Amino acid sequence: MCNGGLISRLLFCSALVLSSVGWAQSRLSVHWEELTAADFRSAIQQSQGTCLLPFGILEKHGPHLPLGTDLLNVRYAALHAAEQEYALVFPQYYFGQIFEARHEPGTVAYSAHMQLELLQETTDEMARNGCRKVLIVNGHGGNESLLPFFAQTQLEKQHDYVVYVLGLVETPPGGPKKKTSVDMHAGESETSKTLVSHPELVHMDRAASESGADLARLKLPDNVYTGIWWYARFPNHYSGDGSAATKELGEFEMKAWQDAIVNAIRAVKADDESLKLQNEFYEKAKHPLQTQP
Ligand SMILES: [Zn+2]
Repeated sequence: MCNGGLISRLLFCSALVLSSVGWAQSRLSVHWEELTAADFRSAIQQSQGTCLLPFGILEKHGPHLPLGTDLLNVRYAALHAAEQEYALVFPQYYFGQIFEARHEPGTVAYSAHMQLELLQETTDEMARNGCRKVLIVNGHGGNESLLPFFAQTQLEKQHDYVVYVLGLVETPPGGPKKKTSVDMHAGESETSKTLVSHPELVHMDRAASESGADLARLKLPDNVYTGIWWYARFPNHYSGDGSAATKELGEFEMKAWQDAIVNAIRAVKADDESLKLQNEFYEKAKHPLQTQP
């Protein structure tokens, strides 16, 4: 394209180069920690105050996957989703619920009050910096009770922002057929996803070296819950068989996860009701006797 006389060619070509540099600079990173302070301000505008908090854990993942698997995978899905539908992504957050793996090497299990306080201070600080909508994207099964509970506690006192939680996402039908039926932790699905996000960290040759069978040691009805249930079923902190994993299944599941996060970001951006209703609720909660049906 850069033809014509020497002078006009120089001017035209340098204009092209400058405009492509300008374009590169105007593409803001989705990574909170990579932005300058001034670019952070633009990122809050561009995201309409919508920020993601991918939420993982440090725990054993069978004999073959890294301790940080849940966060590595949820960040892979969340970062790709945020690039598709712009949102700001908070840095690595590992501070969830994992008491059930305290008997295994490398598990970091903060006390219950610390988990809640750290999460509250984190979302408060995100909001103070302009994240009026904080979408926690969960990557770890052991957080599935903690996170809705945390969201409920936001009604305890007034907040000028909304916490949303996207729990673990079910894989839609239509993908590659799975070979295993027990598959809750470091098994076929999770290993497949890690083959996509971090193939260099998967030790497939070790995947069958421990049992991930369900020992089913408790005889209780399904609707009776007790904290030791997981250890009773999977004492090796391994559920399923990672050696059945394939990159093809991983790509299907990662795509489904990414799509679900994109949908959630769009829905959260469009939601103007939650904050309004929260404020109405906080106001009424100050004088419940005046609340009329
Ligand atoms: Zn996991």
